[in-house]
Amino acid sequence: MVNERYSRQTRFTPFGAEGQEKLSSATAVIVGCGALGTVQASLLARAGAGAIRLIDRDYVEESNLQRQILYTEADARDGLPKAEAARRHLLEANSGILVEAHIADLNPENAADLLADAGVILDATDNFETRYLINDYAVRAATPWIYGAAVGGYGIAMPVLPADSACFRCVYPSPPGGAQPTCETAGVLGPVTSLIGSLQAMEALKILSGRAAAVRRKIFTADLWHGPVRETSMPARDPDCPCCARREFTWLTGRRAPVSLCGRNAVQIHERRRPIDLTRLASQLEGLGEIRGNEFALRFRAGDYHLTVFPDGRAIVKGTTDIGVARGIYARYIGA
Ligand SMILES: [Zn+2]
Repeated sequence: MVNERYSRQTRFTPFGAEGQEKLSSATAVIVGCGALGTVQASLLARAGAGAIRLIDRDYVEESNLQRQILYTEADARDGLPKAEAARRHLLEANSGILVEAHIADLNPENAADLLADAGVILDATDNFETRYLINDYAVRAATPWIYGAAVGGYGIAMPVLPADSACFRCVYPSPPGGAQPTCETAGVLGPVTSLIGSLQAMEALKILSGRAAAVRRKIFTADLWHGPVRETSMPARDPDCPCCARREFTWLTGRRAPVSLCGRNAVQIHERRRPIDLTRLASQLEGLGEIRGNEFALRFRAGDYHLTVFPDGRAIVKGTTDIGVARGIYARYIGA
């Protein structure tokens, strides 16, 4: 029996009741809960995807609200982790689905766990390193994934269907060199992230409803400010691609070093594996600076630096792009 809730969707013949049925038992994994991720998650939750797994390392800030459509001023005020804030709002929209929130940075050590059982993986990250990691996992596990990115008024989207289409490394053999524009340095407009997130969600809907044959195997690009909007054919698979041809999954086997969060004047430290008791840490830090927190993260301000510490030992040090300085702050307040 088809739920009245999804009647407008099942009436669309190519999707139909059978597509709905399949969708309701499928899992979508969304990597990143920023602008693209909130659009994808919102559409897939409302469409009735059986389970949505959200992975994000960051917390909601006021500057997110202009385009990250799930969040509210209260989320930013409370400094809620994005994955948790998104989970709550998605369940308000559809209580009949499962939503998992993972406050984590996708890395080679946790990728196999966090991406397991995905019917499709949606890219809503902001960096090439994580995309190569997703691509390695997806090709190895034969899981389809949808690449997407946006900056300024420009956006791009492309599906990767392992064994069936070119993979991400066939198309982009190595990360772009030099400084790239980011949403922080070059800005970004909400309509372009909503467009790209919607395109990604559409291809995900096809895959999760058993209609992968309908996926548009194209590279879509749009400059919504200056024009044009284009769709070009995907290149053929590279017969010598290190990933999908030679099956060398180097991004899955590497280790993550601390990273400077480009354009954000912040560094993420995630080399520590020992979990941290936030309540204990809060009492240790008492009197040393301003402390705010909730059960998901502790925020601590010392002079010009803002430190956000997560229970898994990860921290974001704001106020510097120097990895050495950030490590020093971490060691001083949290321990080496
Ligand atoms: Zn390839």
